[in-house]
Amino acid sequence: MRRCLKCSAKSVVYLPQHRLALCKEHYLEWYLKRVEDTIKEFRMFDRTNRVLVAVSGGKDSLSLWDALLSLGYKMDGLYINLGIGHYSELSRKVCEEFAKSKKAVLHTVELEKDMASIPSLKEMEKRPVCSLCGQIKRYYLNRYARELGYEVIATGHNLDDETATLFSNTLSWQLEYLKRQYPVLSEGNGFVRKVKPLFKMSEKENALYAFLRGINFVEEECPFAEGASSVEYKRLLSQIEEKSPGTKLRFYTEFIRRVHPILKQEGGVPIGACSVCGEPTTSDVCSVCRLKARLSLGSSSSSPSS
Ligand code: AMP
Ligand code: ZN
Ligand code: ZN
Repeated sequence: MRRCLKCSAKSVVYLPQHRLALCKEHYLEWYLKRVEDTIKEFRMFDRTNRVLVAVSGGKDSLSLWDALLSLGYKMDGLYINLGIGHYSELSRKVCEEFAKSKKAVLHTVELEKDMASIPSLKEMEKRPVCSLCGQIKRYYLNRYARELGYEVIATGHNLDDETATLFSNTLSWQLEYLKRQYPVLSEGNGFVRKVKPLFKMSEKENALYAFLRGINFVEEECPFAEGASSVEYKRLLSQIEEKSPGTKLRFYTEFIRRVHPILKQEGGVPIGACSVCGEPTTSDVCSVCRLKARLSLGSSSSSPSS
């Protein structure tokens, strides 16, 4: 049994990429410090900003909300009910219970009321459901954060998510996507600033934080995620990580340090406002309004409840 590097008590974890064994107390301390350092390093926000955490009910986003509250940031949450049967109902309940236990505000968006549930949208769309769902989540997060007056949106994307996306975008040299892959996306053109304070934390590190903090989170994966290419990329990268600890962190951090600045110089595609809903888009009508038109629901909308 390894001993904690800080206090020599029995360790609860060994982090091979940092060559670090820590006890419960010092792991939680290490985790919070790493999150705070990341926020400061990338100037994500400070204690005066109004920040909204996008919570899914999973270990990453609830650990993020818990960590930010523990660090003294005032954070409200937003849950998008995607209408994926039992999975979404359970996720909503878990988010509501967490918010209640912390006396924090949770806003909820009902996708089914505003347009249609993910399972019904899946029926009418040919492209992979995860990409459709991701686009819808980004749309509602941005729209409601702005309408509710938040300056920053924080998501729980972890190192495994970010390296799988980077790997996928690199395999097909998706330069436009690679340009936008950064822990902070600035505000402007109708976009609210978006930040990923957990991008240096692995899935396992977040799971351990959630477990040690006694956070109740949804363990089951979204039923539609099975077979998604990102799952396969995560598996491959984890195999490499196992043999060479630190690979994922290096892959991502060296991309943002050495490659991203070069890509950024090129500038992006011009952004305008959707002629139907006013959300930022590169076309005349945004993709969500086009989906809505196909559902023949027009542009009717509802307000989030809290
Ligand atoms: P995913 O796209 O499922 O990998 O989730 C990435 C991040 O998006 C999570 O860590 C959350 O911050 C956010 N997120 C995912 N699903 C939801 C949801 N249903 N409602 C609000 N935020 C979500
Ligand atoms: Zn210790
Ligand atoms: Zn629109």
